[in-house]
Amino acid sequence: MLSLLQDIFEEVEPMLGMGKVADYIPALATVNPRQFGISICDTQGRITSIGDASVPFSIQSISKVFNLVLAINHYGETMWERVGCEPSGLPFNSLVQLEYENGIPRNPFINAGALVVSDMVQSRFASPFIAMRDFVRRLSCNSEIVVNKVVAESEFEHRSRNAAMAYLMKAYGNFENEVEDVLRNYFHNCALEMSCEDLARSTSFLANAGFSTCANEQVLTPYQTKQVNALLATSGMYDEAGSFAFKVGLPGKSGVGGGIVAVVPGRFSICVFSPALNSVGNSQLGVAALTSLSQRINWSIY
Ligand code: GLU
Repeated sequence: MLSLLQDIFEEVEPMLGMGKVADYIPALATVNPRQFGISICDTQGRITSIGDASVPFSIQSISKVFNLVLAINHYGETMWERVGCEPSGLPFNSLVQLEYENGIPRNPFINAGALVVSDMVQSRFASPFIAMRDFVRRLSCNSEIVVNKVVAESEFEHRSRNAAMAYLMKAYGNFENEVEDVLRNYFHNCALEMSCEDLARSTSFLANAGFSTCANEQVLTPYQTKQVNALLATSGMYDEAGSFAFKVGLPGKSGVGGGIVAVVPGRFSICVFSPALNSVGNSQLGVAALTSLSQRINWSIY
């Protein structure tokens, strides 16, 4: 496994520096783009890593996966009345579909969907961010995971677009809590910092029918796990989900911090990190590394 990861690194290394770090969140614009790490976790919780795999980075939209799991745990099937399960085919921060779909976002992985999911979680926990932080700490067996407050504050200061979505959904009656409170918690979730090793460990339940070996906990039922993996496969990679399915063929979720998690059901969870992004906001080297990985060992769900 280690030599496989080394081969992949050698293949993608010439691309280091290509792409652009996210700068619409000013605090992320200062991240060194020339970083690359990858970790693979098997269903027993054993990890193989190379490169910058232990460097914590801003998980950003990868937090939407954990947020969704918390909501599924508390709402079950009823949550799908407030958020859909269709790909959007539009950028992650688009507002346009909300208006002609009565404030019901297309899926939980676009921003509008994640905000509704955050609203649901907020209704069930006195401290929703602490619930989320403790959840990822448990899943990754790392009690030192913390939020980067500078990033969270920077996101809050530049919240206009996310706030517009949330208020529009509130106007349609699809938002229960104070918008500004939900936004604060949502940005705190996005600004959690985790490494490839943390993220590969904490998503291993998705490869293991919902059971986390690290946390020794049944996180989701096998059926719910299948549902989350299906959503990741259809909507996890912004408006590149189609070509990611075509090239990589694995359920995956990316974040504008440069991380991508991917799942090989029954076998492995993977996290790759490299902060420079392509034009749709996915890690440039991350997509290249996962393409190489799935080709080299012929892993695909299709
Ligand atoms: N916190 C970011 C936002 O709400 C998340 C973006 C992402 O990683 O897709 O814009």
